[in-house]
Amino acid sequence: MSELRELYQEVIIDHGRHPRNFGKLDHAHYHQEGFNPLCGDKIILHVCEKEGLVTDLKFEGHGCAISMASASLMTEYLKGKSKAEIQELFNLFHQWMMGAEGQQDKLGKLAALGGVREFPTRIKCATLAWHTLKAALKGETQRVSTERDTT
Ligand code: ZN
Repeated sequence: MSELRELYQEVIIDHGRHPRNFGKLDHAHYHQEGFNPLCGDKIILHVCEKEGLVTDLKFEGHGCAISMASASLMTEYLKGKSKAEIQELFNLFHQWMMGAEGQQDKLGKLAALGGVREFPTRIKCATLAWHTLKAALKGETQRVSTERDTT
């Protein structure tokens, strides 16, 4: 029970129910779809870029509280950052999700997702938005899937 409480921290519940930056961005440079077949999470990211900075990003879609909260926290945290910074944070976040220690300080509010680390099957819910963003910034057009075998 305490583990579950840790997984669904207040921040996650809040962002899961009321996602920030939720919606369309018609003038966005990148539109990228991501899918996590293990859980059924689906997001579409819209990203605006100007001179190497991500000036705005929004997402649409549906999925579990973890996937929605993660996308919400990510969009909030990364707005205004450079592509290089985002790449670095992607690596940090990913390593941290996979069990690395000492990264929390640099992850700000994203650290609220720490409870997910204890639940390996949910890690893909938390990293879906990040994988989708990474593909978007590379200009990929194919749908991103957390599983190699896309359905
Ligand atoms: Zn999920």
